[in-house]
Amino acid sequence: MPLPDHRPVIIGAGVSGLFVSAALARAGVPHLLLGPPTPPGAPRLGESLDTIGSLELAAQVPELTEFRYRKDCIALHSSGRETGVFSFRELLASTRVRLVAHWMLGLPRSTPWTFHVDRYAFDDQLFTRCTASPLVTHSPLKVTEIKVEGDRVTALHLNDGQVLHPSHVFDATNHIRLLGRALGVEPISLDVPRYTVFARYFRPEGEGCDHEAGPNWLRTTHLVSLSVEAHGVEGLVWVLPMPGYVSIGVSMDEEAPRPDDARVLEIAEEVCRARGLDWRARYPTAGPSTAVRHRYFFHERVSGENWMMIGGSAFAMHLASSSGLTSALAMAKVAPEFLRHPRRVGRRLHRFVRWVVSGHATFDDISRSAEVVEEQRERWIREAYQRIANHAALCSVPLKRTLGVWAWWFLEWRLVTNRMFRSDEFHTRLLSPQANHAWMNARETEVRGDSIEQLLLEAG
Ligand SMILES: Cc1cc2nc3c(=O)[nH]c(=O)nc-3n(C[C@H](O)[C@H](O)[C@H](O)COP(=O)(O)OP(=O)(O)OC[C@H]3O[C@@H](n4cnc5c(N)ncnc54)[C@H](O)[C@@H]3O)c2cc1C
Repeated sequence: MPLPDHRPVIIGAGVSGLFVSAALARAGVPHLLLGPPTPPGAPRLGESLDTIGSLELAAQVPELTEFRYRKDCIALHSSGRETGVFSFRELLASTRVRLVAHWMLGLPRSTPWTFHVDRYAFDDQLFTRCTASPLVTHSPLKVTEIKVEGDRVTALHLNDGQVLHPSHVFDATNHIRLLGRALGVEPISLDVPRYTVFARYFRPEGEGCDHEAGPNWLRTTHLVSLSVEAHGVEGLVWVLPMPGYVSIGVSMDEEAPRPDDARVLEIAEEVCRARGLDWRARYPTAGPSTAVRHRYFFHERVSGENWMMIGGSAFAMHLASSSGLTSALAMAKVAPEFLRHPRRVGRRLHRFVRWVVSGHATFDDISRSAEVVEEQRERWIREAYQRIANHAALCSVPLKRTLGVWAWWFLEWRLVTNRMFRSDEFHTRLLSPQANHAWMNARETEVRGDSIEQLLLEAG
């Protein structure tokens, strides 16, 4: 069956390609989506969203609410046992922040908290919805070769022998970097290569859903630093609890010595239990584990005359930043405008990527640190505000884009010293080991307002 030609083409039907497809369909643009859907049980990474990702997801995909789960906080457990808890819920409850975020980004006031997303169900549903649109022609065929003239993609060869002449191409092939390779745009490494082991652990059916009323650790993204001295291996554990399962992963330097994958996951379990996060008791059934080798990188150029890289094919930065889906949503949002003004949007895209990846070192530093250092906390909070500014500078209307650029630089130069950008105590709590146990296992009603301080006092 010949496919329609001379249309915008999205290569890759993973979540990033689907975000672009949804954005083009919303703008009334007929287009072609190429590549097979992700097989149902295939492993997925990227289940924790940051503030902007959560707001954007609620705005861009408002229908699929049932697969996203409330997340109030991110807890950074240093290898030295102190924990820094950053409260997204308090951030989003602040009128100042809501005004800035919603006004700057032009988003509806749709969510009081951030999300963990069950990507297994979410991606499948998103695929079904996107491909049901009369504006979308989907084909599971793969692109085997790309022809380029100057800075223009002129032809795509498919694995059934067809040749397409796309008006525009969006590369959503993730680490495969199909366009980057064809155009000779080299990836620039941000860091050493990583080896990551991950698995899901399931809750028995019929246990009831107390995700919202249960202990605090359930509504928190946990990042736990492992050090050779304390745990026998250096790495970063993530724990993402959802009602039916918990996603666990351990990311390590690829070259560093490490135990086998099963032992690495056992260490993650033991270390978390010692922190008051007994996720194995709640989710006793282990699913299969997977290991991937990956790297953090970016491209100096992420778009050209008629092509644009989306999400993980443009750059990949530290997992602790939870930025993969957010950046794919941001880039998808400007895809319709890119069709009309590729140069203008291209300039904004290049700046967006440079600014996003400048945060990589912050997350790497924090995740390797033996203690949560004050200067890092300040950088962490600044980074959160800078992301809002950067996002606005890419996707908002012209006036707000300019404000976004100014805000980003003001924050970078630390010129903004008013309360809005200096509310460390308001967004973060530093928990000692005992307070950590108490906070993690307290229920929300027990830790409203001052009672967090009370808990800290009681726990010494
Ligand atoms: C360890 C780790 C942890 C992470 N944690 C987070 C997190 O907490 N939060 C977050 O937001 N992000 C996170 N990310 C990033 C996140 O995983 C990615 O941003 C996201 O899943 C990438 O989705 P994608 O659609 O771009 O890629 P994929 O899901 O890989 O899709 C790529 C698609 O391209 C298709 N394709 C490839 N080649 C061709 C071809 N030749 N022709 C046609 N189709 C083709 C494939 O079939 C596939 O469907 C993490 C990443 C890593 C590595």
